[in-house]
Amino acid sequence: MSNPTQPTAIYQHPFQRHKTREVKVGGVVIGGNNPIVVQSMTTPDTHFIEETVEQIHRLEEAGCELVRVTVPKAEDAHALTAIKNRIGIPLICDIHFDYKMALAALDHPIDKIRINPGNIGGMDRFRQVVRKAKDKGIPMRIGVNAGSLEREFAMKYGFPCPPAMVDSALKYIEIAESEGYHDIIVSLKSSDVMTVVEAYRIYARQADYPTHIGVTEAGKPPYAVTKSACGLAPILLDGIGDTIRISLLGDPVPEIAAAFDILQATGRRVRKPELIACPTCGRLEIDLEKIIAELEERLAGNKLAIKISVLGCIVNGPGEAREADLGIAAGKGKGVVFKRGEIVRHVLEKDMVDALMEEMAIWEKEEAEKGTLQFGAPTIRADVHNDVPVPVEDTNRIRLPMLN
Ligand code: SF4
Repeated sequence: MSNPTQPTAIYQHPFQRHKTREVKVGGVVIGGNNPIVVQSMTTPDTHFIEETVEQIHRLEEAGCELVRVTVPKAEDAHALTAIKNRIGIPLICDIHFDYKMALAALDHPIDKIRINPGNIGGMDRFRQVVRKAKDKGIPMRIGVNAGSLEREFAMKYGFPCPPAMVDSALKYIEIAESEGYHDIIVSLKSSDVMTVVEAYRIYARQADYPTHIGVTEAGKPPYAVTKSACGLAPILLDGIGDTIRISLLGDPVPEIAAAFDILQATGRRVRKPELIACPTCGRLEIDLEKIIAELEERLAGNKLAIKISVLGCIVNGPGEAREADLGIAAGKGKGVVFKRGEIVRHVLEKDMVDALMEEMAIWEKEEAEKGTLQFGAPTIRADVHNDVPVPVEDTNRIRLPMLN
C-alpha cells in the first residue's frame, strides 16, 4: 500500500538553458553556465570624464557588472583610458555610424565593443573593426536593432521583423567567423515586446553565441520596467539570455535593481531572499504590512537564496508556508512557523520577525553543512558547460525554412 502522505514522484519544471559559448569580457565571463550578467549604460557625454566616472561608481555600488559608454566623437574615444583606469567593472564602448570611432576605441584598454551592423557603413568597414578587435583580443557585441535594420534585410520580409533581424545577425556572425573571430555576443532588440521575444527565440535555434537581452527604448518607469519584464520573462524562461540590460529613461542606476528583480522573479539568478506576502484582504489577522516592512529592512543586503512566506490568514498561509523554505501561517495575533514544510514553532505576532530571522540563521547553517547553500547563484544551469569554443563546422546551425 502506498503511503498517501508521501509523494509518489517529485515534480521538476522542465527547463533547459540555451547552450552558449563563453565569451570573456574583462574579468567577467558571459555565456555557458555563468550567471546572467547585469549591465547598464552611462548618460553623460563620455568625454565628461568626472560625470561619467561618478555615474559608473554609482552603478557599481548598485551591483552593475558591466558598463557601456557611447563613443560618437574622437574626444570620447580619447577619454576611454582615463575612465577605464578609474572604474572596477569591465568597460564596453558603444559605436554607431562611424567605424573610425570603433577603430579609435580599440586603441584603448576597453573590454568589449558594441557594433550596430545596421549603421556601421557596410561589410568592408565591419571587417576592418573585426580584424582590429581580433588583433587586440577584444570581444564584440553584434547589436541588431529593429529600428536601424539594414534595408536589405527589412525589404526581404517587408519590414524589420524578427526573422529579418536574425538574418542580419547571422550574416555579420558569418563575416566575423570568416575572419577567424569568435568572441561574439549577439543582441536583437526592439521596443516591441513581441518582436523581442520572437527574435531571440528564432536566434537561439540557430546559433550558440551568448545573447545580450533587453527591450530597447522601454521608456519611463514604472511602465518601462513592466514592459521589459513582459519582453524578457518569456525568453528567460525559455533559457535564453546571458547578459541583461533594462533600458530606463533617466538615471541608469534603477536599471540594476530592475534587472536583478526580473532575474529573481524568473528564477534565473537569485541574489536576495524572496519574500512571499499576500495582498491582504478582509480576512487579515495580523499587521502584515508592518511585518513585511520590518523583514525587508532587516534583510537588506542579504544575498541568501531563500524563499520566505508570510501570509495573513489561514486560507493559503499553511500551504504557502509549507512550500517556502521558511514561512509563517498567521492566525489571530499569532502564527505557526514552518521550515522546509515542517512546523518548528508557534509565535505571537510581536515576535514573528525575530522568529523568522532566528530560523533563517539556523536554516543557513544547516544548508551550509549540507553544502547546498546558495548566494546570488544562477538557479538554472545549461546541461553542458561550453568552456571550449565550438569550432565553426560544429555549430550545427539550423536554417529555418523562412530564412533560406
Ligand atoms: S492570505 Fe488571507 S488575508 Fe491574505 S489575501 Fe489571502 S485570504 Fe486575505
